[in-house]
Amino acid sequence: MKNTTYEQIFNRLVKASYNGNLKQEIEAIQANGDATTQKYIYYAMGNGDPDKVVFQLDEDTSKAGHHPEASCLFDDIVRDMEGKVVIQDRNCAECGHFIDTCSYHNLIDKKEFIPLIDILKKREVPVFAIVAPAIIGQFGEKVTMGQLRSAFKHLGFFGMIEVALFADILSLKEALEFDRAVHTQDDFVLTSCCCPVWVGMVKRVYHTLIPHIMPSVSPMVACGRGIKRLHPDAKIVFIGPCIAKKAEAKEADIRDAVDAVLTFEEVKQIFNATGINPEEMEDIPSEHSSTGGRIYARIGGVSKAISDTLDQLRPHKPIKINAVQANGIQECKELLRSISNGEITANFYEGMGCKGGCVGGPKALLTPEIGAIHVNAYGLTANAPTPVNNPYVMELLNTLGIQDVDSLLEGESAQIFQRKF
Ligand code: SF4
Repeated sequence: MKNTTYEQIFNRLVKASYNGNLKQEIEAIQANGDATTQKYIYYAMGNGDPDKVVFQLDEDTSKAGHHPEASCLFDDIVRDMEGKVVIQDRNCAECGHFIDTCSYHNLIDKKEFIPLIDILKKREVPVFAIVAPAIIGQFGEKVTMGQLRSAFKHLGFFGMIEVALFADILSLKEALEFDRAVHTQDDFVLTSCCCPVWVGMVKRVYHTLIPHIMPSVSPMVACGRGIKRLHPDAKIVFIGPCIAKKAEAKEADIRDAVDAVLTFEEVKQIFNATGINPEEMEDIPSEHSSTGGRIYARIGGVSKAISDTLDQLRPHKPIKINAVQANGIQECKELLRSISNGEITANFYEGMGCKGGCVGGPKALLTPEIGAIHVNAYGLTANAPTPVNNPYVMELLNTLGIQDVDSLLEGESAQIFQRKF
């Protein structure tokens, strides 16, 4: 049992929870386990500080050659007086990249699924899976969104909603924010869509740029809040390639939106544990997002979606979006530093904490290159290129009490999409 991995234990616990013999399975694992096994069980069950998502297994990290602090670009992993490794909250954007780079496998992320299984099994409360745009292709080349919807329903979810549909709403909002903020060659904005690592860096390290971040929530938060407005008793589970989203969901001003976050890697383990093969599932199509919302998942997608949306909303605006992207955490840091130093070369800045964008997320199942191919191909199958041509977006806004696109900036109903930085 000593060589049993965190993932194997999670897999066994998921299977046992669905089979109704969780207690016995925990006892069986404990009977053959060691101290590390105990910790695996503890975190796999969703325990630990409710405000944290990354934990150290071994406190004694003073061994020679153990240098996790070298993996943090923000010098936020440090040593205390006794030589123990400490992850500080000061600048940490909880990007999650250091989990896989720790050669001692000493860092793990909390699993949030097992406490949900009882709720899913009882089906008394509607639980929605909201899926990141990067999901397409991750569970099989030919697996459709409709088949994934079936797979999640099999697990007990009430429904599956594409976050891309709410990315469409934010493309409208951010295009309007750009229109409001940028009037001269000296004006510029930073997008708040959709990476918490990028936003976190600005908030924690490059504070002087805060006035330039557009005041919007991420598509994940928009989606969670939108569904909860229509189904106030609903529980929302975000599914993506990202560990930073686990931390974003716990931020004080937006923690109302999302109840749990699962990674693609965890979902794969859950499908394996429950014997679900998405390829064999029935297709239940219900996809209404536009090309713009779907390509948020790859680097440059947010810039393109918002730029195309602005061109349609404000065709006569003399200043167009001139975008620059930071691709990966290192580039985010360098770009923010140069903007802070007054080196302004664009009027719209997009930053993605992962190379390639979310398709390069730490818990994606495909390479960023293959993930991007799927994302672009899926984008091309949309019925509308931007939210401006997408009748479902207007219908959704009306259902949420937002009468027209311009009300996204001022209207009370649209406050669910606003964020103060
Ligand atoms: S770019 Fe990476 S860190 Fe940022 S939201 Fe996407 S997966 Fe998460």
